[in-house]
Amino acid sequence: MKGHRVNRRSLLIGMALAPAVMGVARAAPMTLRLSSSLPNNPKFANGRVYVEKPVGKLGPEHFRLVEAALPEPKDGEALVRVRLISLDAANRAWMHGATYRPELETNAVMAGGGIGEVVESKAPGLVVGDLVFGDTGWQDYAAAPGKLLSKLPRVEPLTHLLSVYGIAGLTAYFGLLDVGRPQNGETVVVSAAAGSVGSIVGQIAKIKGCQVVGIAGGAEKCRWLIEHLGFDAAVDYKDGGLFKALRAAAPKGVDVYFDNVGAVLEACLPLMNVHGRVACCGAISQYDGAPAAAGPRGVPGLIVVKRLIMQGFIVMDYFGQRDRAIADLSAWVEAAKLKVVEDVIDGLENTPAALIGLLAGENRGKRMVRL
Ligand code: NDP
Repeated sequence: MKGHRVNRRSLLIGMALAPAVMGVARAAPMTLRLSSSLPNNPKFANGRVYVEKPVGKLGPEHFRLVEAALPEPKDGEALVRVRLISLDAANRAWMHGATYRPELETNAVMAGGGIGEVVESKAPGLVVGDLVFGDTGWQDYAAAPGKLLSKLPRVEPLTHLLSVYGIAGLTAYFGLLDVGRPQNGETVVVSAAAGSVGSIVGQIAKIKGCQVVGIAGGAEKCRWLIEHLGFDAAVDYKDGGLFKALRAAAPKGVDVYFDNVGAVLEACLPLMNVHGRVACCGAISQYDGAPAAAGPRGVPGLIVVKRLIMQGFIVMDYFGQRDRAIADLSAWVEAAKLKVVEDVIDGLENTPAALIGLLAGENRGKRMVRL
């Protein structure tokens, strides 16, 4: 946001986000930690959140907070003091089985992207004090192979490295511009529009001169999309009559649908214009419960007649081009064209509730936990 100066050059050089598929050392728990404040002696100050895979809806009973010894980094590893943990809808999707990353282990430290400082290093190229990103997991300290940690520049505020300059910003940027390919004057619809990816997608679409319609849960979120983020219209999918409301909000039809949700697709498809593009980013409506039944229903005919392009993508595929995205995103942030919306929660012990709340739509913008 305005006033948050970013050293763009250092950002370009240092921004090397690693894929969220890396493993870190996960030693067995020692004692249950009931207190939210950790003792000062770092040798006994490693809180960890363990996860069990749920069968139905995710609840607090699937997590357990424990205190463990500080891990010893092996040769090639660095010990990282975790500062920020990224909360992502994908955290829940990983519990269903292997995706673009290996299946989540049950009764292990919950996996998740995080930013931290190197406090001990046996990894070439990493020294004490380096700021890094990796799959640190939900814990205070992680011992991770240096090759799976990416050095980051010092950016103020640090949280932007997880939001606009992190996975959320890159997903929005490449998913919209490279997959959705919006043209000036076209209509772009985005679902989970008030979330971390969606809030950036809608704003980039506005920057590109599009009419932007957001889909979100609740009248208040919808009002906020228009009044705070500058969307042209917003539709509350929880209010019933989604198709009619969308048709009214997008009277010229839909040229690009950025799908974060899955369930909304059926309402959007009939409104797509000829040669429309659907950027399939995620399917959050299918994450928190039993996996959805497989198989498209009545969709292929529509795709043929309207000559639609539907394309799934994973942001990691675009990491080789991230300098382009960071250059644009940081220029838009500095010019106050792109508002960075962050939802920061304090305390490792609050991480499970933060994820459960994200799946229930509590968040606006990028949710993360600060340790
Ligand atoms: P968000 O910050 O967008 O939070 C998720 C939001 O989804 C909630 O706030 C909620 O808002 C909405 N939501 C939850 N359940 C439903 C439902 N059943 N129907 C409609 N909306 C729902 O999370 P993320 O930014 O982490 O993820 C957004 C999407 O982007 C996910 O599908 C994720 O998998 C995907 N993604 C894909 C990537 C890729 O490389 N392809 C990379 C990163 C994310 P509301 O109040 O509006 O319901």
